[in-house]
Amino acid sequence: MTPIQLRQTTQLYSRLLYSAVGTLFTALVIAWVLADRTQRMQAWGWFALMVLVSAYRWAIAFAFHRLPEARRNDIRWFRRFRWAAWVVAVVWVLPMWLLYPSEPAYQVMMVTALVGIVGGSIAILSYDRTTLTVFLIILMLGVIGRLLVQGDALSLQLAALLLVFFLLMIKGGRDIGHSFIELLELRQSAEEHNLTLLSITEEVARIGYWQWDLKSPVLEFSSNLRNMCGISGERLGVDECLHQVHPDDRERVRMAIDNARLTGKEVSVEYRQRNPRGKDWMLMNQVIKRVEERGGKQFLLGMVQDVSVLRKAEQKIFDMAYYDELTGLANRGHFRERLREKVKHARRRDERFALLYIDMDGFKQINDTLGHEKGDDFLRQFSRRLKKAVREADFIARLGGDEFCVLLGDIKSSIDCVQSAQRCLALRDEPVILDSHNIYPQLSIGIAVYPQDGEDDDSLLKAADAAMYAAKQGGKHSYAFYDNEMTEAAARRVRLEADLQRALREQEFYLLYQPKVDLRSGQLQGVEALIRWKHPERGEVSPDVFIDTAERIGLIHEIGEWVLDHACSQLAEWKRQGLRLQMAVNIASNHFSAARFVDRVGETLDRYQIGDGELEVEITESLTRDPQQHLKVCRELRSRGVRVAIDDFGTGYSSLSVLKQLQVDTLKVDRSFIRHLPSDPTSTLMVRAIIDMALGLGFDVVAEGVEDAAQADFLRELGCPYVQGYYFSRPVTAEEIPGMAGQLFVGDETLVMAAPGKR
Ligand code: C2E
Ligand code: MG
Ligand code: MG
Repeated sequence: MTPIQLRQTTQLYSRLLYSAVGTLFTALVIAWVLADRTQRMQAWGWFALMVLVSAYRWAIAFAFHRLPEARRNDIRWFRRFRWAAWVVAVVWVLPMWLLYPSEPAYQVMMVTALVGIVGGSIAILSYDRTTLTVFLIILMLGVIGRLLVQGDALSLQLAALLLVFFLLMIKGGRDIGHSFIELLELRQSAEEHNLTLLSITEEVARIGYWQWDLKSPVLEFSSNLRNMCGISGERLGVDECLHQVHPDDRERVRMAIDNARLTGKEVSVEYRQRNPRGKDWMLMNQVIKRVEERGGKQFLLGMVQDVSVLRKAEQKIFDMAYYDELTGLANRGHFRERLREKVKHARRRDERFALLYIDMDGFKQINDTLGHEKGDDFLRQFSRRLKKAVREADFIARLGGDEFCVLLGDIKSSIDCVQSAQRCLALRDEPVILDSHNIYPQLSIGIAVYPQDGEDDDSLLKAADAAMYAAKQGGKHSYAFYDNEMTEAAARRVRLEADLQRALREQEFYLLYQPKVDLRSGQLQGVEALIRWKHPERGEVSPDVFIDTAERIGLIHEIGEWVLDHACSQLAEWKRQGLRLQMAVNIASNHFSAARFVDRVGETLDRYQIGDGELEVEITESLTRDPQQHLKVCRELRSRGVRVAIDDFGTGYSSLSVLKQLQVDTLKVDRSFIRHLPSDPTSTLMVRAIIDMALGLGFDVVAEGVEDAAQADFLRELGCPYVQGYYFSRPVTAEEIPGMAGQLFVGDETLVMAAPGKR
């Protein structure tokens, strides 16, 4: 059955119940009249037949109304109605033929009664034109046929009148039927259109709705809601619906429904619902409202929205705003917020808490030598470990780069802070493994305590940062508490950073040269270029003060290149004057392993025509440097005729056992070993071993920091070929060097003219 036919059938059946009352009343009057005028038994028999037929029609109408829409949608109901209507038409005309009264007045009365039935049928049957037309034709043929058979003048005149009347009725009935159908079609298409719009809207907005006629035991669902929740039927009982809801949320949803039903207020509830397409739960938001129709009928209406995607997006935005993407720890903004809260809280309750400011030592080198991807990997692994190292109640954040902060709540004494810091430092015991590299995370930790080190978030952070810096200065991989002096140190550091930038721009650096003496001949063998900074306010600043800072802020590459260029330019100048010297230049370790360092050195050599063996690069050993990369740079430099020296030998991690593998030319024995010569037996032993081993392996050896004659004599005895130190000369300006060449160094900075035969 088409939707229109279903509507027609519904309309036809809905009129039937009250039309039956008219039918039976009219039939009763006719039967009564006929029983008096004609055969009594037949008349009442006919009435009984009419009651029977009407009862059948009632029965099917009743059955039809009780059925759900899907089952009404069966063409047989339509046919049953039709045939029953036509049978009724036949029953109506039966008395005309079987019980027709002889008195004209009663004849007219009967015809009039049937004309009334015709009128009624137009009102009842016009929703189906065929049913109506056939109904009218049966009546017309029955009535007019009988009048024609009667054949008297009155009957013939009546027949003529009725013919016109019937034809008009048929025509009028068909027109009305036509309009009705048009109306139904119009309504149908409007509804279909609305439904389509509604269902598209539902689908796009991921919403659905249900309605509950409060008198009915079941709820009705929109198609999209059925789809969303995987419900197959159109209706479900309340309990069945709640069964789909997460057990923990079920009671809440039930209460929301009851609340809306009893108070008539709009109620909103969010809950988890089983996902029909997976094992997980969907997050749903439901707004429930009681609605009252004009007839007083009450409904509950529920609008359900799947907010899983929305909530996920909200969560993602929240995470982005509050968490660090790389490590998943809280980010700086989140941390500041938490710190401010903590301060407020502690102030109200008169509590103490501490802040650990953690900075990794040497992270920049990991990034420079292994690449940023490995650096990220390292940070991720380290963060996971750090999380495990702190207590659950502590709040941990990554402030950026290699800096982390931990908020320690509930501090009883400084011992608590120390224990936490030590747990973090203990992370070094186990290496972070990146490919084949084992990296032992080294940390500098600053500790600031509320309220003594700062009463608000800003000052606490500054204090912890200053303490961290002090820890770093005091020899890395350690912790330090904050005190006032540290704040000043931090301020000095900030000033130093700014000053360094300016120094490079304004050419405030210059070089001094410290002679390197050949101990066997007493002659000047070469010089080491040492940087000096003439600070406009502070005067001379030692490299020990600023080289570390320059490394940290990344300015060391530019400074290193400046030194290299000036030293080589000076060497070229001395060569023009006929001096043959070796020039040693200090290079910071991360500058040494930077990309293009070798190329830059090569360009400088070409620019100043520096020959093989004339330039020596001094580097110190460091823990995290990639040994392969280190060897490669050394090899490349040496292939270009640049010598490589290990500075401060004995303080780094190169041991005598790895000397063989080093791609270097010279070892510079650190000052700390020379200082106690020759009285201290340990120093004596070590220096002797270093010199013997180094010479045996074919290295040059330079002893640094020779300050007196005893040291010089002892070194000479050990066979140390070269020395540097205040005993021979302090670092001097470039202008002083030519005067020293060709002279004999005998110590204590006194120079004697080199004379033939005299040593
Ligand atoms: P270094 O390379 O070991 O340089 C030797 C340092 O020892 C120099 O200090 C020098 O003045 C000092 N010295 C020399 N003889 C004696 C002595 O007999 N007794 C004592 N007590 N000290 C002596 P300076 O010039 O202050 O340099 C300190 C450090 O700064 C250097 O140690 C080097 O590591 C670094 N540095 C200096 N110039 C540069 C540079 O141009 N670039 C880089 N990257 N670092 C540099
Ligand atoms: Mg040096
Ligand atoms: Mg040195």
